[in-house]
Amino acid sequence: MTAPPHASRRDARAPRWTTTAATTAGKGAGAPSNDGGLPSCALVREVSAALMRAYGKPAPQRRSDPLDGLIGTILSQNTTSANSRAAFGELKRRFPTWEACRDARARDVIDAIRGAGLGAIRGPRIQEILGRIEEEQGRLSLDGLHDWPVRRGMAYLQSLPGVGPKTAACVLMFCCRKQVFPVDTHVARIARRLGWADEDASPEAIQALLEPRVPARLRYALHVNLIAHGRMCCHARRPGCGGCPIRAYCPMGVRGHDPNSMRLNWVMSPYS
Ligand code: SF4
Repeated sequence: MTAPPHASRRDARAPRWTTTAATTAGKGAGAPSNDGGLPSCALVREVSAALMRAYGKPAPQRRSDPLDGLIGTILSQNTTSANSRAAFGELKRRFPTWEACRDARARDVIDAIRGAGLGAIRGPRIQEILGRIEEEQGRLSLDGLHDWPVRRGMAYLQSLPGVGPKTAACVLMFCCRKQVFPVDTHVARIARRLGWADEDASPEAIQALLEPRVPARLRYALHVNLIAHGRMCCHARRPGCGGCPIRAYCPMGVRGHDPNSMRLNWVMSPYS
Protein backbone atom coordinates (compact mmCIF):
# COMPACT_ATOMS: atom_id res chain seq x y z
CA MET A 1 0.00 0.00 0.00
CA THR A 2 1.30 3.49 -0.84
CA ALA A 3 0.58 6.84 0.74
CA PRO A 4 -2.17 8.99 -0.82
CA PRO A 5 -0.91 11.74 -3.17
CA HIS A 6 -1.53 14.58 -0.71
CA ALA A 7 0.40 12.91 2.05
CA SER A 8 4.13 13.34 2.03
CA ARG A 9 6.37 10.71 3.56
CA ARG A 10 6.48 12.78 6.74
CA ASP A 11 2.69 13.19 6.72
CA ALA A 12 2.10 9.47 6.75
CA ARG A 13 4.36 9.20 9.76
CA ALA A 14 2.52 11.88 11.73
CA PRO A 15 -1.22 11.47 12.27
CA ARG A 16 -2.92 14.19 14.32
CA TRP A 17 -3.11 12.26 17.54
CA THR A 18 0.43 11.08 17.04
CA THR A 19 1.80 14.56 16.70
CA THR A 20 -0.10 15.99 19.65
CA ALA A 21 0.94 13.26 22.02
CA ALA A 22 4.45 12.67 20.86
CA THR A 23 5.65 16.23 20.82
CA THR A 24 4.89 17.17 24.41
CA ALA A 25 8.21 15.69 25.40
CA GLY A 26 9.93 16.97 22.32
CA LYS A 27 9.67 13.63 20.52
CA GLY A 28 8.47 12.87 17.04
CA ALA A 29 6.40 9.78 16.36
CA GLY A 30 8.45 6.74 16.98
CA ALA A 31 11.46 8.70 18.19
CA PRO A 32 12.59 6.27 20.81
CA SER A 33 15.06 7.96 23.05
CA ASN A 34 17.70 10.45 23.81
CA ASP A 35 20.22 7.81 24.81
CA GLY A 36 20.85 5.03 22.33
CA GLY A 37 17.71 2.89 22.12
CA LEU A 38 16.54 3.68 25.62
CA PRO A 39 13.54 5.97 26.13
CA SER A 40 13.80 9.14 28.15
CA CYS A 41 11.85 9.26 31.42
CA ALA A 42 9.58 11.88 29.82
CA LEU A 43 8.76 9.55 26.95
CA VAL A 44 8.05 6.70 29.34
CA ARG A 45 5.71 9.01 31.26
CA GLU A 46 3.80 9.83 28.07
CA VAL A 47 3.43 6.20 27.08
CA SER A 48 2.35 5.30 30.58
CA ALA A 49 -0.27 8.06 30.56
CA ALA A 50 -1.61 6.88 27.18
CA LEU A 51 -1.87 3.31 28.44
CA MET A 52 -3.57 4.54 31.61
CA ARG A 53 -6.16 6.34 29.52
CA ALA A 54 -6.78 3.16 27.55
CA TYR A 55 -6.66 0.51 30.26
CA GLY A 56 -7.25 2.48 33.45
CA LYS A 57 -5.33 2.84 36.66
CA PRO A 58 -4.57 -0.57 38.15
CA ALA A 59 -5.92 -1.30 41.61
CA PRO A 60 -3.16 -0.72 44.15
CA GLN A 61 -1.12 -3.75 45.22
CA ARG A 62 -2.05 -5.31 48.52
CA ARG A 63 0.69 -6.36 50.86
CA SER A 64 0.68 -10.15 50.91
CA ASP A 65 2.80 -13.18 51.81
CA PRO A 66 5.97 -13.11 49.68
CA LEU A 67 6.54 -16.86 50.05
CA ASP A 68 3.07 -17.59 48.69
CA GLY A 69 3.85 -15.06 45.95
CA LEU A 70 7.14 -16.73 45.09
CA ILE A 71 5.66 -20.22 44.81
CA GLY A 72 2.68 -18.87 42.87
CA THR A 73 4.96 -17.02 40.46
CA ILE A 74 7.09 -20.12 39.89
CA LEU A 75 3.93 -22.04 39.06
CA SER A 76 2.79 -19.29 36.68
CA GLN A 77 5.80 -19.63 34.38
CA ASN A 78 4.95 -21.01 30.93
CA THR A 79 1.32 -21.73 31.65
CA THR A 80 -2.01 -19.93 31.85
CA SER A 81 -3.19 -17.98 34.89
CA ALA A 82 -6.06 -20.43 35.32
CA ASN A 83 -3.73 -23.44 35.36
CA SER A 84 -1.23 -21.88 37.74
CA ARG A 85 -3.96 -20.68 40.11
CA ALA A 86 -5.50 -24.14 40.15
CA ALA A 87 -2.09 -25.77 40.80
CA PHE A 88 -1.33 -23.32 43.61
CA GLY A 89 -4.73 -23.96 45.17
CA GLU A 90 -4.21 -27.71 44.98
CA LEU A 91 -0.75 -27.41 46.52
CA LYS A 92 -2.14 -25.41 49.44
CA ARG A 93 -5.06 -27.79 49.85
CA ARG A 94 -2.83 -30.85 50.08
CA PHE A 95 -0.13 -29.17 52.15
CA PRO A 96 -1.69 -26.55 54.44
CA THR A 97 1.74 -25.35 55.60
CA TRP A 98 4.94 -24.85 53.63
CA GLU A 99 6.69 -27.07 56.15
CA ALA A 100 4.34 -29.90 55.15
CA CYS A 101 5.11 -29.26 51.49
CA ARG A 102 8.85 -29.24 52.09
CA ASP A 103 8.68 -32.55 53.98
CA ALA A 104 6.25 -34.27 51.60
CA ARG A 105 7.21 -37.03 49.21
CA ALA A 106 8.45 -35.54 45.97
CA ARG A 107 5.90 -37.45 43.94
CA ASP A 108 3.02 -36.02 45.98
CA VAL A 109 4.19 -32.46 45.32
CA ILE A 110 4.66 -33.22 41.63
CA ASP A 111 1.17 -34.65 41.50
CA ALA A 112 -0.35 -31.62 43.24
CA ILE A 113 1.06 -29.17 40.71
CA ARG A 114 0.65 -31.36 37.65
CA GLY A 115 -1.95 -28.99 36.17
CA ALA A 116 0.63 -26.22 35.77
CA GLY A 117 2.96 -28.47 33.76
CA LEU A 118 6.64 -29.25 34.28
CA GLY A 119 5.75 -30.82 37.62
CA ALA A 120 8.82 -33.07 37.63
CA ILE A 121 11.04 -29.99 37.46
CA ARG A 122 9.03 -27.54 39.52
CA GLY A 123 8.07 -29.90 42.34
CA PRO A 124 11.63 -30.72 43.48
CA ARG A 125 12.65 -27.12 42.87
CA ILE A 126 9.90 -25.80 45.13
CA GLN A 127 10.94 -28.23 47.87
CA GLU A 128 14.56 -27.21 47.47
CA ILE A 129 13.62 -23.53 47.70
CA LEU A 130 11.60 -24.16 50.84
CA GLY A 131 14.51 -26.01 52.41
CA ARG A 132 16.95 -23.26 51.50
CA ILE A 133 14.74 -20.50 52.90
CA GLU A 134 14.33 -22.24 56.23
CA GLU A 135 18.02 -22.93 56.46
CA GLU A 136 19.05 -19.40 55.55
CA GLN A 137 16.29 -17.36 57.20
CA GLY A 138 15.87 -19.50 60.27
CA ARG A 139 12.20 -20.09 59.49
CA LEU A 140 10.04 -20.84 56.52
CA SER A 141 9.08 -17.29 55.74
CA LEU A 142 10.06 -14.48 53.41
CA ASP A 143 8.37 -11.77 55.46
CA GLY A 144 11.72 -10.04 55.84
CA LEU A 145 11.43 -8.96 52.21
CA HIS A 146 8.83 -6.39 53.21
CA ASP A 147 11.50 -4.44 55.09
CA TRP A 148 14.61 -5.18 53.09
CA PRO A 149 15.88 -2.71 50.50
CA VAL A 150 15.01 -3.70 46.95
CA ARG A 151 18.59 -4.56 46.04
CA ARG A 152 18.91 -7.00 48.92
CA GLY A 153 15.53 -8.59 48.19
CA MET A 154 16.33 -9.00 44.48
CA ALA A 155 19.71 -10.52 45.27
CA TYR A 156 18.33 -12.97 47.79
CA LEU A 157 15.43 -14.14 45.65
CA GLN A 158 17.71 -14.63 42.65
CA SER A 159 20.05 -16.73 44.75
CA LEU A 160 17.26 -19.33 45.02
CA PRO A 161 17.19 -22.12 42.44
CA GLY A 162 15.33 -21.28 39.25
CA VAL A 163 14.43 -17.73 40.34
CA GLY A 164 15.31 -15.07 37.77
CA PRO A 165 14.93 -11.29 37.79
CA LYS A 166 11.35 -11.31 36.51
CA THR A 167 10.12 -13.68 39.21
CA ALA A 168 12.06 -11.81 41.90
CA ALA A 169 10.70 -8.44 40.77
CA CYS A 170 7.13 -9.79 40.56
CA VAL A 171 7.31 -10.98 44.18
CA LEU A 172 8.67 -7.63 45.35
CA MET A 173 6.20 -5.64 43.30
CA PHE A 174 3.00 -7.56 43.92
CA CYS A 175 3.56 -8.81 47.48
CA CYS A 176 5.83 -6.17 49.01
CA ARG A 177 4.71 -3.14 47.00
CA LYS A 178 8.26 -2.32 45.97
CA GLN A 179 8.84 -0.02 43.04
CA VAL A 180 10.51 -2.41 40.63
CA PHE A 181 9.78 -3.17 36.98
CA PRO A 182 9.43 -6.84 36.03
CA VAL A 183 9.78 -7.54 32.31
CA ASP A 184 7.93 -10.60 31.06
CA THR A 185 7.43 -11.71 27.46
CA HIS A 186 4.61 -9.18 26.85
CA VAL A 187 6.58 -6.25 28.22
CA ALA A 188 9.72 -7.35 26.37
CA ARG A 189 7.89 -7.69 23.04
CA ILE A 190 6.31 -4.25 23.32
CA ALA A 191 9.61 -2.67 24.41
CA ARG A 192 11.32 -4.11 21.32
CA ARG A 193 8.53 -2.88 19.04
CA LEU A 194 8.65 0.57 20.57
CA GLY A 195 12.36 0.64 19.75
CA TRP A 196 13.27 0.73 23.43
CA ALA A 197 15.31 -2.46 23.19
CA ASP A 198 17.22 -4.40 20.57
CA GLU A 199 15.34 -7.03 18.63
CA ASP A 200 17.37 -9.80 20.21
CA ALA A 201 17.49 -8.40 23.75
CA SER A 202 16.32 -10.87 26.40
CA PRO A 203 13.62 -9.91 28.92
CA GLU A 204 16.30 -9.99 31.63
CA ALA A 205 18.50 -7.54 29.71
CA ILE A 206 15.53 -5.29 28.96
CA GLN A 207 14.54 -5.26 32.63
CA ALA A 208 18.02 -4.19 33.69
CA LEU A 209 18.17 -1.40 31.11
CA LEU A 210 14.60 -0.17 31.30
CA GLU A 211 13.89 -0.09 35.02
CA PRO A 212 16.03 3.00 35.69
CA ARG A 213 14.15 4.81 32.88
CA VAL A 214 10.74 4.14 34.39
CA PRO A 215 9.92 6.65 37.14
CA ALA A 216 9.54 4.68 40.37
CA ARG A 217 5.95 5.71 41.03
CA LEU A 218 4.90 4.55 37.53
CA ARG A 219 6.53 1.13 37.53
CA TYR A 220 3.62 -0.88 38.85
CA ALA A 221 0.99 0.77 36.65
CA LEU A 222 3.17 0.61 33.56
CA HIS A 223 3.97 -3.06 34.10
CA VAL A 224 0.31 -3.98 34.59
CA ASN A 225 -0.89 -1.90 31.64
CA LEU A 226 1.81 -3.17 29.28
CA ILE A 227 0.70 -6.70 30.05
CA ALA A 228 -2.90 -5.70 29.41
CA HIS A 229 -1.77 -4.10 26.16
CA GLY A 230 0.15 -7.22 25.14
CA ARG A 231 -2.87 -9.41 25.81
CA MET A 232 -5.50 -7.18 24.27
CA CYS A 233 -3.80 -5.32 21.43
CA CYS A 234 -0.08 -5.80 20.79
CA HIS A 235 -0.34 -9.53 20.14
CA ALA A 236 2.77 -11.50 19.28
CA ARG A 237 1.58 -12.53 15.82
CA ARG A 238 -0.84 -9.87 14.67
CA PRO A 239 -0.58 -6.63 16.64
CA GLY A 240 -3.69 -4.49 16.42
CA CYS A 241 -1.88 -1.33 15.41
CA GLY A 242 -5.05 0.28 14.02
CA GLY A 243 -6.57 0.72 17.48
CA CYS A 244 -3.37 0.98 19.45
CA PRO A 245 -3.37 3.71 22.11
CA ILE A 246 0.43 4.07 21.93
CA ARG A 247 0.91 3.84 18.21
CA ALA A 248 2.10 7.42 18.18
CA TYR A 249 5.20 6.25 19.97
CA CYS A 250 5.80 3.07 18.01
CA PRO A 251 8.00 2.91 14.90
CA MET A 252 6.44 -0.41 13.99
CA GLY A 253 2.92 1.00 14.21
CA VAL A 254 3.85 4.18 12.33
CA ARG A 255 5.40 2.09 9.57
CA GLY A 256 1.99 0.49 9.24
CA HIS A 257 2.24 -3.14 10.23
CA ASP A 258 -1.48 -3.47 9.64
CA PRO A 259 -2.78 -2.18 6.27
CA ASN A 260 -6.09 -1.15 7.83
CA SER A 261 -4.32 0.83 10.50
CA MET A 262 -2.38 2.73 7.84
CA ARG A 263 -5.66 3.73 6.22
CA LEU A 264 -6.88 5.04 9.57
CA ASN A 265 -3.60 6.87 9.98
CA TRP A 266 -4.08 8.80 6.74
CA VAL A 267 -7.70 9.61 7.40
CA MET A 268 -6.60 11.24 10.65
CA SER A 269 -3.63 13.05 9.19
CA PRO A 270 -3.65 16.80 9.93
CA TYR A 271 -2.13 17.34 6.49
CA SER A 272 -5.00 15.80 4.51
S1 SF4 B 1 1.55 0.27 17.20
FE1 SF4 B 1 1.29 -1.95 16.89
S2 SF4 B 1 3.31 -2.86 17.29
FE2 SF4 B 1 3.32 -0.77 18.15
S3 SF4 B 1 2.74 -1.01 20.32
FE3 SF4 B 1 0.87 -0.59 19.16
S4 SF4 B 1 0.00 -2.62 18.63
FE4 SF4 B 1 2.17 -2.91 19.24
